[in-house]
Amino acid sequence: MRTWATGNGEKITQILSGRSNVFLLTNGKKNILVDTSPKRKQKLLFKSLDSLHLNKIDFLILTHTHYDHASNSKKIKDFFGARVIVHSSEADILLKGKSVIPAGTNFFTRNIISPIGRKINQIFDFEPCIADIVIEDKFDLVPFGFNAYPLPTPGHSPGCISIVVNNEIAIVGDALFGIFKDSIFPPFADNVESLIESWGKLLETGCHLFLPAHGSARKAKTIRKEYLKRQSNSV
Ligand SMILES: [Zn+2]
Repeated sequence: MRTWATGNGEKITQILSGRSNVFLLTNGKKNILVDTSPKRKQKLLFKSLDSLHLNKIDFLILTHTHYDHASNSKKIKDFFGARVIVHSSEADILLKGKSVIPAGTNFFTRNIISPIGRKINQIFDFEPCIADIVIEDKFDLVPFGFNAYPLPTPGHSPGCISIVVNNEIAIVGDALFGIFKDSIFPPFADNVESLIESWGKLLETGCHLFLPAHGSARKAKTIRKEYLKRQSNSV
């Protein structure tokens, strides 16, 4: 499994990789899981976590509640006793287990979405889960031994959050994609303007590396380049 370390001693391990990344943030004593992958990956997720011999997962932070991130939340909460952290604007979605389909941002994704309709679709339903900590703004993890905080980075969906670790590495969910060679732009987003603003917020943290939920890590300079390009386009 791929790992990254911060100067403060936090370690980030990529538990699942490929289409839906799942990350574990640890300080050696406490563990925080970020996202849970889609339901079909549940066995693989538990196998992967089992290989790390974790006694407990203290927190599960959901970067947002789309089915490919939140579907195994209830299982993780029950099995590891994790307290689930989600943004206030999506706590209700988690409680109902109804994933919302975001808007397409390009010709291809717009045309997939339109026949389905931007309504709640049963295909994407998942096991409902009660959030334990509902956040509005930054949530300080220093009291738990991490120099880290979840930061709201909306745009892809209203309740998107990124986890900023020691102002070095950010786990960003779908705020940007690491799949395409020449773009970080997600193929789906509810609000493109606030998505671009969120890139600005992420750059302000001083992080040099960004770990998206889909694809591979992206460097600050890549994000800055596209941020400046999109900003100048909108003027
Ligand atoms: Zn998403």
